[in-house]
Amino acid sequence: MGGRGVASTGSMSAQDCLFCKMTKGEIPAEVVHDDGEVFAFKDIHPAAPTHLLVIPYKHVETLLEFERDDEALIGRMVTVATKLAREAGIGESGYRLVANCNRDGGQSVYHVHFHVLGGRRFGWPPD
Ligand code: 5GP
Ligand code: ZN
Repeated sequence: MGGRGVASTGSMSAQDCLFCKMTKGEIPAEVVHDDGEVFAFKDIHPAAPTHLLVIPYKHVETLLEFERDDEALIGRMVTVATKLAREAGIGESGYRLVANCNRDGGQSVYHVHFHVLGGRRFGWPPD
């Protein structure tokens, strides 16, 4: 309690968090993976033919809030992303695993997530 309506700079409680609501089934999602620890679903505005989001159930706002105790969870997020890329058929052709952090990184949802993007060729460096 207490997070709602409080002036903030991007900080959001788990209770009000869009992605937490998805893990709880309170907001619909096209779920592609759910093991009770890591959850993945299709991005609502796909930027590529395959565009998935891999998130922890744990409400962590940005990469900066990950702690040493989260290292197994972070590893699990990566292996789930790898599994999903293979299943989507973009393993061999190639794909991007991206985490945007804060303003300059282009983060818009403050529950940490990995984008899995594939099915087309991307430029480098990002603009
Ligand atoms: P960010 O900009 O934080 O790196 O990525 C957030 C992503 O969440 C965006 O690609 C955006 O399209 C996606 N997104 C935002 N709202 C929703 C939603 O309600 N459902 C789904 N499936 N994706 C969402
Ligand atoms: Zn959350």
